[in-house]
Amino acid sequence: MKAVVLRKFKTPLRVEEVEEIKDLQRGEVLLRIEMTGVCYRDILTVDGYFPKTRLPVILGHEICGRIIDVGEDVPRFKRGDRVASLTYIPCGECDECRRNEENICRKRLWFGEDIDGSYSEYLKTSYRSLVKAPEDLSPEAVAISACVTGMLIHALKTRGKLMHTEKILITGASGGVGVHAIQIAKSYGAKVISVTGREEHADKLYKLGADHVIVSKDGAFSDKVKSITDGVGVDIVLDCVGLTLTESLKSVKWGGRIIQVGNIKPEPISLMIGYFILKEVSLSGSLSCTKRELSEALELHKSGKVKPITTVLPLEQVEEAHRMIRERRHFGRIMLKP
Ligand SMILES: [Zn+2]
Ligand SMILES: [Zn+2]
Repeated sequence: MKAVVLRKFKTPLRVEEVEEIKDLQRGEVLLRIEMTGVCYRDILTVDGYFPKTRLPVILGHEICGRIIDVGEDVPRFKRGDRVASLTYIPCGECDECRRNEENICRKRLWFGEDIDGSYSEYLKTSYRSLVKAPEDLSPEAVAISACVTGMLIHALKTRGKLMHTEKILITGASGGVGVHAIQIAKSYGAKVISVTGREEHADKLYKLGADHVIVSKDGAFSDKVKSITDGVGVDIVLDCVGLTLTESLKSVKWGGRIIQVGNIKPEPISLMIGYFILKEVSLSGSLSCTKRELSEALELHKSGKVKPITTVLPLEQVEEAHRMIRERRHFGRIMLKP
């Protein structure tokens, strides 16, 4: 089968022929991959920022597939089912899994890092990672349902408690997460201010529903946020960038909250701790999503309130896909079709 295997950190990616997957264990199913998303996390994995990554490994954790084979003891799923998958396989037994907080399961296995992922024709997984996907959703919508839409439901609703009529600032708005965050925040009734570094993307962000678009090439945007909000600041910031955290802190109102979902340069940054105290700001990390949130994401796509904004390339163009993300000249999510 065709697959993209990361054998050594910081090396170019290409499709190669690898051995077919056989011998399904208890609880496992075999998927034919219809579409897979390219995540900034994949770039960080290639660059070696997750040193526990098991090499060699097939990359990819954003999955739309169809079940083509089923092992023993697989409840609820059968051959032919179309599925979305979590970005990991939860253990199913720990306290977090029992509380339906499987996104923070310590024993989870992350696709494309701990176990082989979806930059491939086929993928082996446990039924525990899967949710049935409607046939009438596009492969793109299904593939972004976990790491993008579900992750944003987790970030905005579960972690951020975003409420109707609140003002939200979304940084990195042109990226794969940002373009969908705008739509989801609007579907929750929020007022959206988005920040992009690219002038040419501003109109497209307005078309997605942004109430304000700030173009900032140097990463400074808090003054503009202040003037848009009459000096008060926003209720909540969805920070998709990381490097922008100080500006996010200056942009949020007293008592506001920051939800951190992205970190494009995972190196230490310095922060004015005083802002957190004097403005009583809270900062929450947010990781991936649970199965419930994945189901909710599929519903949100089905309702038409959130449309996938994607560019699909053949799997063979994996290196080009990664380059586009590194250079940040794309708009929306880049997808690979095996
Ligand atoms: Zn992802
Ligand atoms: Zn667990």
